[in-house]
Amino acid sequence: MAAREEYILEVNNLVKHFPLGGGLFSKKQQAVQAVNGISLKVKRGETLGIVGESGCGKSTAGRTIIRLYEPTAGQIIFEGKDVTKAQGNDLMELRRNMQMIFQDPYASLNPRMTVGDIVAEAIDIHRLLTGQKRTQRIFELLKIVGLNPEHANRFPHEFSGGQRQRIGIARALAVNPSLIICDEPISALDVSIQAQVVNMLEELQQKLGLTYLFIAHDLSMVKYISHRIAVMYLGRIVELTSSKDLYANPMHPYTQGLLSAIPIPDPHVEAQRRRIIPKGNVPSPIDPPSGCYFRTRCPHAMDVCAKEAPELTEMGNEHLVACHLLKK
Ligand code: SF4
Repeated sequence: MAAREEYILEVNNLVKHFPLGGGLFSKKQQAVQAVNGISLKVKRGETLGIVGESGCGKSTAGRTIIRLYEPTAGQIIFEGKDVTKAQGNDLMELRRNMQMIFQDPYASLNPRMTVGDIVAEAIDIHRLLTGQKRTQRIFELLKIVGLNPEHANRFPHEFSGGQRQRIGIARALAVNPSLIICDEPISALDVSIQAQVVNMLEELQQKLGLTYLFIAHDLSMVKYISHRIAVMYLGRIVELTSSKDLYANPMHPYTQGLLSAIPIPDPHVEAQRRRIIPKGNVPSPIDPPSGCYFRTRCPHAMDVCAKEAPELTEMGNEHLVACHLLKK
């Protein structure tokens, strides 16, 4: 039997633009440039965190990888198969193996469906189980996520935010996926519940051999679950390295700014914390700056930064950074 590939997912130069209706007299078709050529590889069994401020394109990237959105350009290889070209049954099968957990547990569950039917949604779509076997699988999934089989006949409004997110996780697990895209799964939850959900996701990963793409805007929580982290800014990856390395040695000026904003629990160290606040606001993704997209806010911007987009370059130890400053 052939060895299974080390990388479960490979994304090459992925682009997703959302065209806007051009004005009557406008010659140029405008577009929201949500994802602007990202490339990454995810190892089997690892968690790759994707972080950045809201609007940086991280959720759009996740949804395009699973083809909830059609890519504008680029290639997605999952389990050795080209997702970008898949159609019909092949696409159904790829989607079965790539599931998604959504940010808002209030909005992502149909209020008119029972928890049992919600959890079994993908089982029903793929016609995998019926009757008693389907019911048993629902009970099993509820137990895996720390809920009771009796919860199957209840409706989403009867549950707390944390419990609803557990239902969302059970739904994602129902068809034994190998990759789960977690789209800000803890952002809408109380801090005390966030840790519980993160711990549960980690346990499930170990037990079931899952791979996660964990999308978050909160760098402090993503640190605990991610093996590696990609930092996104205006639709591009600006830094990608191991979680440990990113926190110990952030190289990109944007990452340095994001990390400096995290409060430190030790009051003495916190008193010394120096915040690096990028100037101004994030530019519009409809008309991003030339060259490096971060140049309008970067304290180190040079002439070359307006002329050339820096490429993601290895700085040693698999630490990738896109910044002209580091090439001088
Ligand atoms: Fe700043 Fe230039 Fe580096 Fe961009 S390329 S982050 S503008 S120094």
